[in-house]
Amino acid sequence: MVKETGYYDLLGVKPNATPDELKKAYRKLALKYHPDKNPNEGEKFKAISQAYEVLSDPDKRSIYDEGGEAAIKKGGADTGDFRNPMDFFEKFFGGGFTSGRRRERRGKDVVHQMSVQLEELYNGATRKLALQKNVICDKCEGRGGRKGAIEKCMQCNGAGLESRIQQIGPGLVQHIEQVCRKCAGSGEMISEKDRCKQCNGRKTVRERKVLEVHIEKGMRDGQKIVFSGEGDHEPDSQPGDIIILLDEKEHQTFVHAGTDLMMKMPIQLVEALCGFSRVIKTLDDRDLVITSPPGEVIKHEMTKCIMDEGMPLYKNPLEKGRLIIQFEVIFPESIPVSIIPALEQCLPPRPEVTIPIDAEQVTLSEFDPKQRRDQHHHRMAYEEDDRYEEGPRVQQCSSS
Ligand SMILES: [Zn+2]
Ligand SMILES: [Zn+2]
Repeated sequence: MVKETGYYDLLGVKPNATPDELKKAYRKLALKYHPDKNPNEGEKFKAISQAYEVLSDPDKRSIYDEGGEAAIKKGGADTGDFRNPMDFFEKFFGGGFTSGRRRERRGKDVVHQMSVQLEELYNGATRKLALQKNVICDKCEGRGGRKGAIEKCMQCNGAGLESRIQQIGPGLVQHIEQVCRKCAGSGEMISEKDRCKQCNGRKTVRERKVLEVHIEKGMRDGQKIVFSGEGDHEPDSQPGDIIILLDEKEHQTFVHAGTDLMMKMPIQLVEALCGFSRVIKTLDDRDLVITSPPGEVIKHEMTKCIMDEGMPLYKNPLEKGRLIIQFEVIFPESIPVSIIPALEQCLPPRPEVTIPIDAEQVTLSEFDPKQRRDQHHHRMAYEEDDRYEEGPRVQQCSSS
């Protein structure tokens, strides 16, 4: 039981989420709300990052589960200080996502999350992806206008910044610096008539780019495919990268765990006891037949595996992991009383149970884990009251 679920709710997961589920949820939301994509969702981006920062650390997670957000905040420097969400994001994604990080001036990296089916990771696939990116305008060669037509911005004197005086109280003013509104921070002006007609003086144009993305056998959820230098390009800087981030969709039958595949297999009780056969459709559409050895009993939640039928290894696809099968034995809800003697003949004998003379006969009830202990106590007390009312009558009966 956790004290509060706020951080889990922010990431859209249940409080019992595995580290993998948390990671996946953060990745999806962080990309969605990243200020590059969603400039108005800065607060949301920060909140998501903080929630994941806590929940991804086992120590902090248990502090949060026990004491909630207040306990995290109270922890001070050890737990309560959050990292800059942008730094945290970059650390998580391995850096190279924003132009500010590298020393040389670089255009922005374009990150695109691509949904892939497990079949595509198993068999490999090629997907076409159309993206929009900024490229240097070819008409003006990135100058924004006719050669020699570029002048220094009069408003900011070429600095790109202008200072403004803002009144913050009676007789109290503050100098603030902001990006020049006239030249949008470029420090340059091009008169309307000299402006490049193709890019309207912006120096770059949007271009549609179709990429061929090669998904290789054995790639994983979250793996990056980088197209170096295919990202946004701005004048006087290196173009950024296009980064494709694979997002594996849930599969109906298989769960992908490292190089292994896992599946659940329901079998009837009769099959568990007397043997069974099943056909498994592989991700490359082959049929595998499995048959249990005669006389062997399959227990509920027992696991078995088939070697070399898991996922192919990345860069070494002839090698494969295991296909792990977990059995779920389906018991009948009830059996006809008349067959019990015959059934007992077939099964190992029951153990002898000695019942002490003064043992109490009690009732087995359905168990409801949600039923709280205090509620239970309350009901017990209530039932005792009932019995107390009936009590004297029972005593009278037994004494007469
Ligand atoms: Zn142009
Ligand atoms: Zn200016």
